[in-house]
Amino acid sequence: MTDTFKTLLVEQVDKKTFTRKLTTRRLDDLPAGDVVIEVAYSSLNYKDALSATGNPGVSRNFPHTPGIDAAGTVVSSDSADFSAGDQVLVTGFDLGMNTPGGFGGKIRVPAEWVVPLPQGLSTRDAMVIGTAGFTAALSVQGLINAGVKKEDGEVLVTGATGGVGSVAVALLHHIGYQVVAVTGKADKHDFLKSLGASDVISREELLTNHERPMLKERWAGCIDCVGGDYLAAAIKSTRYGGAVTCCGLTASPELPINVFPFILRGVSLLGIDSVQCPMPPRQALWNKLASEWKLDGLEALTEEITLEQVDSYIDNILAGKIAGRVVVKLS
Ligand code: NDP
Repeated sequence: MTDTFKTLLVEQVDKKTFTRKLTTRRLDDLPAGDVVIEVAYSSLNYKDALSATGNPGVSRNFPHTPGIDAAGTVVSSDSADFSAGDQVLVTGFDLGMNTPGGFGGKIRVPAEWVVPLPQGLSTRDAMVIGTAGFTAALSVQGLINAGVKKEDGEVLVTGATGGVGSVAVALLHHIGYQVVAVTGKADKHDFLKSLGASDVISREELLTNHERPMLKERWAGCIDCVGGDYLAAAIKSTRYGGAVTCCGLTASPELPINVFPFILRGVSLLGIDSVQCPMPPRQALWNKLASEWKLDGLEALTEEITLEQVDSYIDNILAGKIAGRVVVKLS
């Protein structure tokens, strides 16, 4: 086995300038850890673009290889839980933040971060889902746990053409919910309908009269990926006893709202975190995504790129130009 591998390296030039290049690194360049994995596929997430552009809330140690997702084959393991040849996946924890991530041919991580690849998924399938799809699944599970049932009515998804949003639309449709998608991309309505949205509305439509303390009740539940006024409008228009999940901030990290929807309509706001999600529910959800929640149609929303193409796709995701999921083929 060769101990060199290709990697995307982000280097810091000065306080605000970061450059990206493809280079070769050695196993010795990786931090200590229990399990060395040869990465077959990674995926592109919004957070990878933040890391690759030096966002200090995501990555502080440079030079650095981003990539919060990786799936591949164990090369060596100091943990009794894994052996060479096992197929595995890693998402979240510190991978791709300050630990070299999936945009390199090999990673070395603590065994506690590693999920055995569930039966029914290939390494590529797992990365089509990736952190974005796993977060969508956590959000859907959150609504179900909060008592939102498919017969209760429409479920809203914001940021619907994004990684989390597009898988959320497809998953909700797959398990029988009626989905309304919100998008800023006027040319992507047919795409969202092909994923299973029964209706698609513009961002402006969601924000109609959004400055009012409460809005007309419409949604049984909402999956919000964008934050800000959109999350506030979603909460204000959720029906009595409904629930809203919050996972992202592509519009804003602020939440401009008062308490009325919570104390007059009993609406619940559910925080979603995929990064530190403990291993038992993490494995259970991955197993669900490989069985009853397996989405056969995900290929329609997936684009496959090479490590060489990641650089330009980082700019595209920051500009909000990507629809669906992007998998990165490493080997
Ligand atoms: P993407 O960039 O793939 O999608 C985000 C979508 O948000 C875009 O496609 C766009 O959808 C919408 N959007 C972008 N900019 C704006 C804006 N200025 N105003 C309103 N809408 C906007 O990101 P991901 O789906 O990968 O992630 C979504 C969010 O969730 C990110 O903030 C990410 O950091 C977060 N996240 C959090 C996780 C957690 O564990 N909590 C895990 C994974 C992601 P459209 O054009 O259709 O409106």
